[in-house]
Amino acid sequence: MKKTARKKSRATKVKGRQPKRRVPAPKATKAKGPPAKRKAVRRSAEDRLQELRQRLLEISDLGAVGSVLGWDEATYMPTGGSAGRGRQSATVSRIRHERAIDPALGRLIDSLTRHAESLPTDSDDATLVRVARRDYEKAIRVPADWVERSNKHGSASYDAWTRARPADDFATMRPYLEKTLALSREYAGFFKPYDRIADPLIDMADEGMTTASIQKLFADLRRELVPIVRAITAQPIADDRCLRGTFREQPQLAFSLDVAARLGYDLDRGRLDKTHHPFCTRFGAGDVRITTRVREDDLGDALFSTVHEAGHAMYEQGVAAALDGTPLGGGVSAGVHESQSRLWENVVGRSRAFWEHFFPALQRLYPDQFQGVALDTFYRAINKVERSPIRTDADEVTYNLHVMMRFDLELDMLEGRLAVKDLPDAWRARMQADLGLEPADDRDGCLQDVHWYYGGIGGGFQGYTIGNILSAQFYAAAVKASPGIPSEIAAGEFKTLHGWLTNNLYRHGSKFTPDDLIERATGEPMTMRPYLAYLRGKYGELYSLPAAA
Ligand code: ZN
Repeated sequence: MKKTARKKSRATKVKGRQPKRRVPAPKATKAKGPPAKRKAVRRSAEDRLQELRQRLLEISDLGAVGSVLGWDEATYMPTGGSAGRGRQSATVSRIRHERAIDPALGRLIDSLTRHAESLPTDSDDATLVRVARRDYEKAIRVPADWVERSNKHGSASYDAWTRARPADDFATMRPYLEKTLALSREYAGFFKPYDRIADPLIDMADEGMTTASIQKLFADLRRELVPIVRAITAQPIADDRCLRGTFREQPQLAFSLDVAARLGYDLDRGRLDKTHHPFCTRFGAGDVRITTRVREDDLGDALFSTVHEAGHAMYEQGVAAALDGTPLGGGVSAGVHESQSRLWENVVGRSRAFWEHFFPALQRLYPDQFQGVALDTFYRAINKVERSPIRTDADEVTYNLHVMMRFDLELDMLEGRLAVKDLPDAWRARMQADLGLEPADDRDGCLQDVHWYYGGIGGGFQGYTIGNILSAQFYAAAVKASPGIPSEIAAGEFKTLHGWLTNNLYRHGSKFTPDDLIERATGEPMTMRPYLAYLRGKYGELYSLPAAA
C-alpha cells in the first residue's frame, strides 16, 4: 500500500483549514521603486521565503506526528488504546489543518508569487511557492471540523474492521461504511463544481487524472488484458506447493529485511514491524518505516509485501534532503508511488534473474522445504496465475481486474447507484462476472481491503493499476539507459537501477506533477506499451502463449 492507508488518507493529507489565530500579515511585495528600495524588497523576499519554509515545516512536523500515531496504532498499540488514539489523531490533524489554512499563510504565499515567478521555473523555491499555493487553495475549501470528524471516524472504523473482518461481520461495518461514504461525498462537495463526484477524490491521490481519464485507461487496458487472462487460465495452474508448508516467522522476517536492504532500503533510516495490512510511512528523511505481515504456511506473503513496501520506502528515502519538511519532500502521487513498489516487487522481485541470485540462500534457510526444488519450479510458483478472490494475493495478470472492479463499485456508491447495504451482493456479482468466481464470505469479499474502512471511498484504488503500468515504463527506460541492469540483478546488484530511479524520480520528491515527472524520466507520457510488452514477454514464456495473445 502506498504510504500508509492513513497517512495518505484524505483526512490527513489534506491540510486543514482554519484561522482565527492572529499572525501579523506580511505586506504584499511589489518590486518597484528606486534601486535601493528594490534591494530591500529582494532581501525581504528571502525573509518571507524563510517564514514560509518555517510555517510549512511546522505543518510537515504535525503531519509526521500524526503519522507516528498512526504507525503505532497499526503496530503496537493495545486494542484498548483505540478511542484515545482516535481522539489524539483527530486533535493533531485538526491543529495541522488550522496551520495549513491560516489566512496569514495565504497572504505570505500571495506576497511571494511575483518573486517566485522571477526565479527559474524548476528551482526549489519557485516550485515550493507554487505547490504551497496549490495545497493552500485546496486546504481552505475543507473545514477543520470535517478533518477532525473524518479522522475520529477513521480510527473507530479501522478498529471495528480489525475485529469484523476475521468474524466475517459486514453487518457491524455497514453503519461505519455508510458514514465513510457520507464523509467522502461531503469532502468532494467542498470542491464543487466538478464533472463527476469522484474527480476531486481522484485528483487528490493522482493529480491530473479524472474519472473520465481513468475509465478510458481502464477500458483500454481491459481490452488487452482479458484475452491474456483467458489464454493463461485455460491452461493447467502452475504448481506452487513449494511455497506452502511451515516457514518459521523469524527467518522469514530476517530474510525479507535482508533482501530489502540489498535492494537499497537504508536500515539506518528505516525499520520493519508487523501489522494487519502492510504499509510504508515517512516521518522524515531520516525515518521511513515499513510494515509487513507473516503467514507461516505461505512463504510469499511476508517476502513480497516487504519488498513491495521497501519499494515505497526507497522512493521516500531517495527524496533530496533539501526538500525534507516541505510539501515537496515526499513521493508525488499514488500512481507513481505504486510504480516503485510494483517495480521492486514484481518486475525485479519476481524475475528469474533476481532468484538466480537469491534462491540458493532461501534453500539454505529452509532446506526441508526447498531441497530438490528447481529454480524453475520456484520461479513458476511465485508467478502462478490463478483467479483469486483476494486482491493482495492476485498475480500480476489478474490484479488489475480487482482494481477496476473496486474503482467501479466506488463510483457506483459515490454516484448513488449502489447502497452500502447492497455492497456484498454487488461485490459477489462483479467477481463472478470478471473473474468467474465468488468469495466464500464477506471476509474474502468486500471486507478484505482496509481502504474503505480507514481512508475513505473514492480515489484509493486507481493508483495500483497506474502503478503497474508505470512500473514497466520506468524499468524499460532505466534498462534503455543502462542495458547491463538485468545481468546486475542476476548477480544480486541493484545499484545501477536504484541510482537511475533516484536520479530520475526519487530525488525530485513532489517538485513536478506526475505527468511532468513521467515525461522527464521516460521521454514520453504514460503509456501501456511497455507494460503489455512486459506481461506478454514474461507470461508468454511461462505459459507458452501464442504471440498474439
Ligand atoms: Zn503499495
